[in-house]
Amino acid sequence: MHVTAIIAAAGAGRRLAADVPKQMLEVGGQTILQRSVAAFTAHPRVTDVIVVLPNEVAADPPAWLNDVRVVTGGTRRQDSVAAGVDALRADAEIVLIHDAARPFVSAALISRAIDAAATHGAAIAAVPVTDTVKRVQGSEEMPAVAETLARDTIYLAQTPQAFTSRVIREAVALGRSGVDATDESALAERAGHSVRIVPGEPGNVKITTAADLDAARRSLTAMPRVGTGYDLHRLVDARPLVLGGVTVPSERGALGHSDADVICHAVTDAVLGAAGAGDIGRHYPDTDGRWKDAFSLDLLRDAVQHIRRLGFAIENVDVTVLLERPRISAHVAQIAASLASALGVEPERVSVKGKTNEGMDAIGRGEAIAAHAVALLRRA
Ligand code: MG
Repeated sequence: MHVTAIIAAAGAGRRLAADVPKQMLEVGGQTILQRSVAAFTAHPRVTDVIVVLPNEVAADPPAWLNDVRVVTGGTRRQDSVAAGVDALRADAEIVLIHDAARPFVSAALISRAIDAAATHGAAIAAVPVTDTVKRVQGSEEMPAVAETLARDTIYLAQTPQAFTSRVIREAVALGRSGVDATDESALAERAGHSVRIVPGEPGNVKITTAADLDAARRSLTAMPRVGTGYDLHRLVDARPLVLGGVTVPSERGALGHSDADVICHAVTDAVLGAAGAGDIGRHYPDTDGRWKDAFSLDLLRDAVQHIRRLGFAIENVDVTVLLERPRISAHVAQIAASLASALGVEPERVSVKGKTNEGMDAIGRGEAIAAHAVALLRRA
């Protein structure tokens, strides 16, 4: 099935910023438009994407629009969508229309709209209202309630709106004949088509006001953050083998500054890395006497306090230890519990796994021990 997405991004929308159209404002390091376009270019069922832009942007589109077709929009939204429909390929079967100002549309919602349009000819994403709805009359300043509407018959329209190419061409033709509409569904309805509702999403917000923009930016900084850590130490005779603060019975132990605890070092780096807060070498340099012979679990505890002060909490930590011998499977539960206590989280948020290196390289020959760690943080 040939599915074309038309992204309506021609609005000047300068309410939010004086110098750029609102779709060119950044949310979490990408412009609103870039996010909206990516939702469709990345969707496996979308064949091609047409982006309708204001003249000034269409004349010199940014590089991230290289893979899509760009057309110049019109004064009204419906003129812009009409320009997109004019650019459809002859073999387009389903046409999705999407507001550039809705950057958080999900792949599942796009699929629902495609399926419903393929079956019924026309479908829009919409959400039921939760507030009681009043129709009013009188002055704009303080109108009076004329009627309370039956809430269960009211839906708020979102995009994408999806149509077969025949239906959208008819809708656009009707619009060109002088009918005004704020969305394509209204034109399809006027053209006599039944437009079905597919469940929209509360997260599929339209960024219109400064408050919307703030909320969108906040929701993205609420995204979890991941960090990785790695450490390796030489194994030598007559040293204890300390792993996650637990001394594991072993003929050989790790050589290094402090207790040379590879697990604590890798986890400390993962936790600091996820917070964007540097690394173990910066916080606990071995040139600093304070940390000489420090118990590494205490360094980890200190690093956790540090990321807490930055506003993060630990979601989970996963560790893989690379060690030829001894086998640590009998100790992993105790190591995980020790780590969990230092991290200040429940034991089920910490996982520790042991692996050998099949006799290969320095680890395989028993000359070294290494650990990899991943930490996921969320905003506390
Ligand atoms: Mg180390």
